[in-house]
Amino acid sequence: MAKKQFKAESKKLMDMMINSIYTHKDIFLRELISNASDALDKRYYHAMSKGESGIARDEYKIRIDIDKESRTLTVSDNGCGMTAEELENNLGTIAKSGSLDFKSGVEKGSEVEIIGQFGVGFYSAFMVSERVCVLSKAQDSDKAYLWESSGVDGYTVKEAEKNEAGTVITLYIKANTENENYDKYLEQYTIQEIVSKYSDYIRYPIMLNMERTELKEGTEDEYETVIEPTQLNSMVPLWRKNKNEITAEEYAEFYKSKFYDYDEPLKTVHSKTEGQVSYDALLFIPKHPPFDYYTKDFKKGLQLYTNGVVIMDKCEELLPDYFSFVKGLVDSADLTLNISRETLQHDHLLKVIAKNLEKKIKSELEKMLKSDRENYEKFFSAFGVQLKYGLYADYGVNKDTLKDLLLFTSSFEKKPVTLKEYVSRMTEEQKTIYYACGETVDKIELLPQTDAVKAKGFEVLYLTDDVDEFALKMLFEYEGKSFTNICAGNLDLDSESEKEELKKENEDNAELLSFLKESLDGAVSAVRFTNKLKNHPVCLTSEGMMSLEMEKVLSNMPGGEGAKATVVLEINREHKIADTLKSLYTEDKDKASKYAKILYAQSCLIAGKSIDNPTEYCDLVCELM
Ligand code: ADP
Repeated sequence: MAKKQFKAESKKLMDMMINSIYTHKDIFLRELISNASDALDKRYYHAMSKGESGIARDEYKIRIDIDKESRTLTVSDNGCGMTAEELENNLGTIAKSGSLDFKSGVEKGSEVEIIGQFGVGFYSAFMVSERVCVLSKAQDSDKAYLWESSGVDGYTVKEAEKNEAGTVITLYIKANTENENYDKYLEQYTIQEIVSKYSDYIRYPIMLNMERTELKEGTEDEYETVIEPTQLNSMVPLWRKNKNEITAEEYAEFYKSKFYDYDEPLKTVHSKTEGQVSYDALLFIPKHPPFDYYTKDFKKGLQLYTNGVVIMDKCEELLPDYFSFVKGLVDSADLTLNISRETLQHDHLLKVIAKNLEKKIKSELEKMLKSDRENYEKFFSAFGVQLKYGLYADYGVNKDTLKDLLLFTSSFEKKPVTLKEYVSRMTEEQKTIYYACGETVDKIELLPQTDAVKAKGFEVLYLTDDVDEFALKMLFEYEGKSFTNICAGNLDLDSESEKEELKKENEDNAELLSFLKESLDGAVSAVRFTNKLKNHPVCLTSEGMMSLEMEKVLSNMPGGEGAKATVVLEINREHKIADTLKSLYTEDKDKASKYAKILYAQSCLIAGKSIDNPTEYCDLVCELM
């Protein structure tokens, strides 16, 4: 029979598994057991929702068999099974979720990360097997099929015999190599150990026929081998246990296996709630965003259980978007088993749980911010953007929930600070919260305006994410203090007399300034002198609601092409260039006009804005050289 080829991405992954140097090979068993458990859930749920009794609950089982002679390890379940198409689709490709991007991934050393990130599940069997057979019969089907593969060169699917619905996965364990002991996977004690380490909480019995040698009854020196079906797992879901009985390692293992992360969670929150609605919640904040977190493929949600039986894998309603990074589960006996998407939206209890969880997550984050700053900063660099989007979204309805969770890098020690910390350091004299936008902290520090504000002794928040300024605009004020973009026109740093002087200077040179403006052909709404530039010659300042940074962000969005900030070219009145312009205006107007163009182009470059006509700019500069 012709072999079918794996999809390209699966093939790469398969290849990686076969030649794996992954140090946690043991996890293959956890993956197969989890799949079996899911299959049992599906069968059970299917039966329940159709009102059928199906097979009795206590007949649902996972079985492990070891055969040393044929070097096989078998994992069987009587779950939902798979049809021929399902075998093809589920095991012929792993790229169901779409965007497996291997371009940057498969180099040495990144293996662990990939294996962890994609939760490759079934494929991990190839880390320890030279051949894998999957015999499966779907529930409600009278045909069974055998899927078989020895690795990258493809797989076959053919009809086969099987009585009961379910799946039997047979692994032909590899021979030992110099560096690797595979024989151990044919030892009952190894299997027992792996199951109790990784799969103890699985809610179906995992059975293994354990052999032991016993003194034969009635004799004193004759021994016999007794085979006894033994349940390897305790079946108590982790979240049902008492907090003080669970070690950090157990939580971490549970998290890693259940939510496909190669790393431990940054924070674990385990809570039991009694009241209007009773539930257990086990929540995790990951250390880093999953690979698809910032894509539209990402789906938020918590697993939903009722009485230990899973009823939904990703219940979106339980998490607000701004906490979408939280992973975990909720188990409540108060929910009905056959809750569906439609009834869910109206489910009052679910809303109550969601509201409580939101409060809980918020207070845990606040706690972390207060007493574990280092981890909070890690958290914020992974997920802070999400909080800022949350603040901005829905016309800011959640701003009060989120405003105290935000961090911004500050000119003060260049460390992340909260708005509260910023405001607490403000002096009498300082009326407003200063911020500046740019691609990086370093670039913002180089802005001429930054110098000016810092010279006054004021702290500046450095905003480097696209969403930052939008979030602050949505916030409008914090503890009665407004926000001021230091690159906007209303930066009010001068004393009254300085203001007077500047006003006069601008009036006296009104003709020159409007000539310069005309030379720029509508690019700026005005040209004027300023006091705020210390040693720098020029800057670009925005006026009105839209800042330069907002123009940049919006114009990169679909439909945002027309976004334009109103800008003013400001020239340092103390700088030599101011005098040069004044004299050129009387002596050589043509040159003054060229100077205006050069200065405008330079102010754009400083502001991180591209110049409209770089060729003209170069020609003009060269003309002067
Ligand atoms: P994942 O479990 O992450 O979806 P896997 O590669 O482990 O990925 O499995 C792929 C799919 O194959 C599963 O989603 C499931 O639909 C199917 N599958 C795997 N093992 C079984 C099993 N024992 N019984 C029924 N279906 C299974």
